[in-house]
Amino acid sequence: MHEWALAESIITTAVEAAEKKKLKTISEIKISIGELQQIEQDIFEFALGEIIKSQDEKLKNVKTIIITEESKLKCKNCGNKWKFADIKKKLNDDESESIHFIPEVTFVHTRCPKCGSPDFEITSGRGVSITSIKGKR
Ligand SMILES: [Zn+2]
Repeated sequence: MHEWALAESIITTAVEAAEKKKLKTISEIKISIGELQQIEQDIFEFALGEIIKSQDEKLKNVKTIIITEESKLKCKNCGNKWKFADIKKKLNDDESESIHFIPEVTFVHTRCPKCGSPDFEITSGRGVSITSIKGKR
């Protein structure tokens, strides 16, 4: 149930950010979810809604917008860059499923499409972050 933990930390971070900006109410929170994070978006949104309900007036009319961030990878050997979406197409169902549950499995199945090196890094599209917060003072 890491969706709940994530939703809770998003709301806590948003409230803290609003306090720093001296916002009385938060009207919108934009959240970016990396493709490799692979969370259940339905559960995540439900969790956000429930946590928002239990919060104070600040979040009464808040709107949450969730965007998916494309995952990009970079080969440490030749510098080639590619997208996770490209390799995902080539995986069979079993591999695709295991990546869904453990993003780290990606490292076992993936090679640089250009030089074949298994040594690469994820440059974007991992983790959950707040892109922006809107509110009134
Ligand atoms: Zn390479």
